[in-house]
Amino acid sequence: MTNLLNFNQTQLADYFVSIGEKPFRAKQLMRWMHHFGVRDFGQMTDIAKVLREKLKLEAEIGVPEVLLEQVSDDGTRKWLIGADEANSIEAVFIPEDARGTLCISSQVGCALACTFCSTGRQGFNRNLSASEIIGQLWVANNALRQTDGYDMLPAGERIISNVVMMGMGEPLANYDSVVTAMQIMLDDSAYGLSRRCVTLSTSGLVPAMDRLKEDCPVALAVSLHAPNDALRDEIVPINKKYPIKDLMAACERYLVKAPRDFVTFEYVMLDGVNDTVEHARQLLTVVKNVPCKFNLIPFNPFKNSGYETSKTSHIRVFRDILMAAGYVVTVRKTRGDDIDAACGQLAGKVLDKTKRSFKHVAIEVAV
Ligand code: SF4
Repeated sequence: MTNLLNFNQTQLADYFVSIGEKPFRAKQLMRWMHHFGVRDFGQMTDIAKVLREKLKLEAEIGVPEVLLEQVSDDGTRKWLIGADEANSIEAVFIPEDARGTLCISSQVGCALACTFCSTGRQGFNRNLSASEIIGQLWVANNALRQTDGYDMLPAGERIISNVVMMGMGEPLANYDSVVTAMQIMLDDSAYGLSRRCVTLSTSGLVPAMDRLKEDCPVALAVSLHAPNDALRDEIVPINKKYPIKDLMAACERYLVKAPRDFVTFEYVMLDGVNDTVEHARQLLTVVKNVPCKFNLIPFNPFKNSGYETSKTSHIRVFRDILMAAGYVVTVRKTRGDDIDAACGQLAGKVLDKTKRSFKHVAIEVAV
């Protein structure tokens, strides 16, 4: 069976041509699958009955299985989603007054082994397919529609206004599937999100950043976390391959095509590691050519992490130095930590294939 959830509209049109049908069927299918969340071909009433019967025989709309749904005291929701018998991933919905943000995963685990990241500590199993990535949005959208407060919304109206590729995995290390899934997010026949409302967060895979700006320029966040190469080599090991100078140049190039005129630099605040006055001053120097905002993320502890969250007073001083230099700085509020849904806490279940057992290894990532 062909899983139609794997296709963007162009690929779906090609599929219809390949089975002897008109390409415009793709638009109809996209609306049924994504806009209305319908999986049963029988319900797709504007499609000829003969075609519906044909689709039933050779295609499916295969969405990932939800293994567990948890709701935090603050309204944050987390879904544990089965990737296969041995592995699972997580997606998180964060409701706010003016928007609803879904954080989705791109890989089962992550090979990049950032030392402060729960996903990175678990190792890596495999990339997710496009259907498994967009399936998280499908699942969350449909689950939220059954929820009090959302259940009266007309079909097709957005509950999820923003998507961030910040869950498990490095999205640019799973380039093709991630781009296909984001094209579906942006498609007016599917979820119709604007490029500004879809954010991809990368730890800095420079060649893939250059490809992304041509193929699917969405808002960009960069996991920086350190203001010099010596420290970043240690806590974000991909820095050994793409050091800060190359990363900053890639950010400048990206902004030429980006839907926003700034990059968001994410910076996890680790007590005594990267949070001093000197680190803040170094940070100002390294980003000086890149229009940017900063998002300071108080470290969310997990078992055996070896790190502590920066003291509030240190975070404040760090923030004030950046603000005094004219930057917009937000300090991320922790959401959903009672269900381990906060930033850096997503773990799912990963059968590690790297066999690195928490050692930080040199990484080669194909992009
Ligand atoms: S921070 Fe991102 S890139 Fe680094 S290990 Fe975690 S998921 Fe991977």
